[in-house]
Amino acid sequence: MSDVIATERTRTNWAGNVTYRASALAHPTSTDELQRLVASTPRLTALGSRHSFNTIADTDAVQVSLQDLPPVLDIDTSRRVVRVAAGMTHSQVAAGLEARGWALANLASLPHISTAGAVATGTHGSGVRNPSLAQAVVGLDVVRASGAIEHVDASSPDGALDAHRVAIGALGVVTAVELAIEPTFQVATTVHLDLPWDAVSAHFDEVMSDAYSVSMFTSFDHRGARQVWVKHRVDEAAPAVNLVALGARPATGPVHPGENDPAGVTEQGGVPGPWAERLPHFRSSFTPSTGAEIQAEYLIPAASAVTALEALRPLASVFAPILIAAEIRTIAPDTAWLAPSSGRQSVGIHFTFRRDAAAVAAAVSRIEEALAPFDPRPHWGKVSGMSVEGLHDAYPRLTDFAAVARDVDPTGRFRNAYLARVLS
Ligand SMILES: Cc1cc2nc3c(=O)[nH]c(=O)nc-3n(C[C@H](O)[C@H](O)[C@H](O)COP(=O)(O)OP(=O)(O)OC[C@H]3O[C@@H](n4cnc5c(N)ncnc54)[C@H](O)[C@@H]3O)c2cc1C
Repeated sequence: MSDVIATERTRTNWAGNVTYRASALAHPTSTDELQRLVASTPRLTALGSRHSFNTIADTDAVQVSLQDLPPVLDIDTSRRVVRVAAGMTHSQVAAGLEARGWALANLASLPHISTAGAVATGTHGSGVRNPSLAQAVVGLDVVRASGAIEHVDASSPDGALDAHRVAIGALGVVTAVELAIEPTFQVATTVHLDLPWDAVSAHFDEVMSDAYSVSMFTSFDHRGARQVWVKHRVDEAAPAVNLVALGARPATGPVHPGENDPAGVTEQGGVPGPWAERLPHFRSSFTPSTGAEIQAEYLIPAASAVTALEALRPLASVFAPILIAAEIRTIAPDTAWLAPSSGRQSVGIHFTFRRDAAAVAAAVSRIEEALAPFDPRPHWGKVSGMSVEGLHDAYPRLTDFAAVARDVDPTGRFRNAYLARVLS
């Protein structure tokens, strides 16, 4: 075994609801070391920042973290592309870009997650014109089972880039990601409280498309959308929807979408600031919560959103003991084969539950029953009870993806129990 493998056993995911079974955690410090490790280890799984809620990043063999690889942030201004080391977090990448006058189009709610991990699961933010981060990928370097590095981009044959964008760890260890960038921009976040359900239903599309990135938070109870976060890009037309006229009231101070101290959320109150300090909901300098939570999320076609929300509302009493917050976001279509937003304008219905695995499993089963008519696609990084057949129905390119995985990794070097099940 390589000397970069520590004897220390990997502990748990960030939320503490998955105890990793890995026999070892490797921390290579150079790409060469990583390549030798991959070539000499019969089975290994890449580990990002451990923010997934299921066993997707677990293995009973070796986990490999890229945290100790040197950071890279090279901007090609003529191509409008940044090349970053795959293990760098959103906040590291965002700070580096912002300092040099550049931006990513969108970010997830949490700046602490790794670039490769976010891309690998189709992680997204909100915005009717904003696809997932995976869609911003114009190229990537991946260490294959042989230890060789391959570059994949739009010129690679057979739509390889779209197979590799959301690769759920199955196609190799990604060492570098090239992302489309644009000149930096400013965003101002305003929050309104308690938008009644009638207004949500009657004006859903209008509200969600009224600014660059809009999120609604709800408990599915009588309060309707108890928070509406409108993130307005200041170089665009001002939001036109009058949320007060629709029955909401302006927040009088900063609010947290869950139960934590609002000091940890990015600035609200309509104060313009750089994209990197507004698009994530949480500040990078704060732990967003204790982590004692479990998340589930389903992406459905945007056109079904209002009916789907109505189908979930009768479950408010099921959710009440365990739901910290549910968030509703929009995601523009992706070309990635396995993106939950692949090929369709989507609405994501996300649930942050308390860390009570049995109660969450029961709630998730009720959610999946309620959402079944709406063709839901579960988020790869969150919990779901969907069968393998269900996943194949939800993700029509899953069989094609499994064939690519067999092709690039015939001995199953990157195969863990999660992938063995999903790609069977
Ligand atoms: C508090 C919180 C907030 C979140 N907010 C959002 C959100 O706003 N939007 C959203 O869509 N999701 C969100 N998520 C989910 C999160 O973005 C995903 O679970 C994401 O995959 C986490 O990235 P990670 O680096 O922790 O990956 P991990 O959980 O460590 O791994 C996830 C997958 O990525 C693979 N992977 C990691 N690194 C590499 C690599 N170098 N090469 C190849 N494969 C790799 C792993 O093998 C595994 O398959 C949130 C999660 C938390 C805990």
